[in-house]
Amino acid sequence: MIRTFMIVFLFLWLGRYFYFSSSSSSSSSESSPVETSSPFMYDRNNNNNNNVIKNQSNQFQTQPIQVKGNEQYSKQQQPFIPLNKNIQDQDRAKGVVVILARNSDLHGIRASIRQFEARVNRRFHYPYVFLNEEPFTDEFKHYVHLLISSTAQFGQIPKSVQPAPFWTTNGTRIFKDTMWWGYPEHIDQSIAATKRKEMASLENPPPYADSESYRHMCRFQSGLFFRHPLLDGYDYYWRVEPDVDFYCDVDYDVFQLMKDKGFKYGWTIAIQEIPETIETLWAATRRFIQKFPHYGVFDPQQSLLSWIMQMDDTTKADYYNGCHFWSNFEIGSLDFFRSQPYLDFFDHLDQEGGFFYERWGDAPVHSIAAALLLKKSEIHFFNDIGYNHPPVAHCPTEPFLQEKCHCDPAISIDWQDGSCAVPYKNIDPDFVWDEFTYYRETNPYRLA
Ligand code: GDP
Ligand code: MN
Repeated sequence: MIRTFMIVFLFLWLGRYFYFSSSSSSSSSESSPVETSSPFMYDRNNNNNNNVIKNQSNQFQTQPIQVKGNEQYSKQQQPFIPLNKNIQDQDRAKGVVVILARNSDLHGIRASIRQFEARVNRRFHYPYVFLNEEPFTDEFKHYVHLLISSTAQFGQIPKSVQPAPFWTTNGTRIFKDTMWWGYPEHIDQSIAATKRKEMASLENPPPYADSESYRHMCRFQSGLFFRHPLLDGYDYYWRVEPDVDFYCDVDYDVFQLMKDKGFKYGWTIAIQEIPETIETLWAATRRFIQKFPHYGVFDPQQSLLSWIMQMDDTTKADYYNGCHFWSNFEIGSLDFFRSQPYLDFFDHLDQEGGFFYERWGDAPVHSIAAALLLKKSEIHFFNDIGYNHPPVAHCPTEPFLQEKCHCDPAISIDWQDGSCAVPYKNIDPDFVWDEFTYYRETNPYRLA
């Protein structure tokens, strides 16, 4: 029964990917970036075309709506939200909702935001940062802004080499020229093209096998998003994607919980990666460990490494079992990514070229980094946050949580085939909080 269910899901999933891969590859053209005063920012002072949106026939027409400039979206004062626990201003977690999206994602992202606001943000009013390698249209900004209860900033990602911040172990920040969205110089683009074709002609090609834009996206989410200047000043982020569901009321401040508990990475769904997309990712990780043996957390009491690394009984060689946190949902510490070990890891992987010669996803990259560089006590399972990114969903099964949700626990991937929650339990048996622990830990962060 479960197997049939999974097969139907897989079928639907792949169908969706086929549909999208053609449209996403067409958005990969390398046209030069639109000039703004800074390569990163939507031009705050440019009020041109504010009331012009594109109609279906691709001609511009004037609309009666008045779209505000970026500055007006972001200028409002963030309200102060008192929590049960009295926390000094300087100890409040600075959290932000981060959304990478194309203009064509407008309707999908509005659907996600509608639920995110209803379930989470109407209480906490976390600010949003939207990122895109193309300038966001005024239409996008206007229709997104109508649904949010807080502030939004719309940033552009340069499709060129620009200075990017690096943080050293002693905390200083330096800038180095880095390709933000595009091919780094050392990538042989003709080899990359051949590899894409090869992947697309497999008998069961993985989703986005031939997409260039998807690879740029995965590389950006792996190594660049947290360095965007619009995220300066924030410590924690919640990643939101188009067309996802938030099923449950989140009535405590998750960012403050992350900060006070020392959590660096939070997840709801963990599944297995498609092996064809990451053939050499583990070998590359092995070389990283050899180069930087002092970085990892190897103490078996504290390490999560055995969740992803397994031994082949016959060859006695270790391999990556593909388990990863599904990164379309993430609540994480920006400082984890802004740390020298993570930056060295990303640089190492970037040099190896697998973002383009294979199709390394940001999910396995973030997850391998978390399992290698973080203690298991720094990783948190948000069981209470019911979430759906079709075709996979997490819905809490516990009655005390179901009261806050609108999902059928039977759809939850957690204890089904393909889920990596089962092996996670072997390593961290108490990773699902019981009712007492849940309220004890979250009550301090509920509204006063
Ligand atoms: P999937 O979840 O792996 O099927 O991939 P998605 O198509 O949902 O893409 C992941 C995230 O990156 C979503 O937030 C998308 O809106 C965003 N995204 C994907 N490709 C691009 C792109 O080419 N440009 C921009 N700006 N965003 C993209
Ligand atoms: Mn997605």
